[in-house]
Amino acid sequence: MLLDGLVIPLDPKSYRERHFSGHISGGQLSLPPEEMMLPDPVAVEITVARANNDQWRISGTLVYKGQYVCSRCLESFGREQNSPIDRLFCVGSDPARNHKVRSLEDDQTFLPSGELAIQDLVREELLLDLPMIPVCSDDCCGLCPQCGCNRNHERCQCEDNTREGPFSRLKEMKLS
Ligand SMILES: [Zn+2]
Ligand SMILES: [Zn+2]
Repeated sequence: MLLDGLVIPLDPKSYRERHFSGHISGGQLSLPPEEMMLPDPVAVEITVARANNDQWRISGTLVYKGQYVCSRCLESFGREQNSPIDRLFCVGSDPARNHKVRSLEDDQTFLPSGELAIQDLVREELLLDLPMIPVCSDDCCGLCPQCGCNRNHERCQCEDNTREGPFSRLKEMKLS
């Protein structure tokens, strides 16, 4: 089931708990393309449940494949992500706007309209998931700072000239 454009009403009169399962197209999410692309739709499994009064809990998972640019070698790479969601929403306007201090456990999002657009929820979660420094692999060798070649695929000469190892010493000894 395609969930694009779905708006979830947080209305205690219509239900206590509802489950949503389906997909959201990446194009609907307007993510920053330089940070992340989505080659496939995001699989969404969420339960919307009334917690108390005007409070609703949304829990579940997002499964997707993010396409990122490696910060070391600048090549694009894909990674499967399985990201849990657990969020509290409160219908109404934020009372903390009138107070100076806000408690930390008050980690909930206020929705004056009482309606939650599913792509807003998914977009926020994916942005929170973004790797700070995307790296294609822990042992990515990156680009050579001198000639710019990708050291995962080729070996340039710059490396040998700068490296101080036992063999460079040997070479020098033979020459003298
Ligand atoms: Zn890399
Ligand atoms: Zn080089």
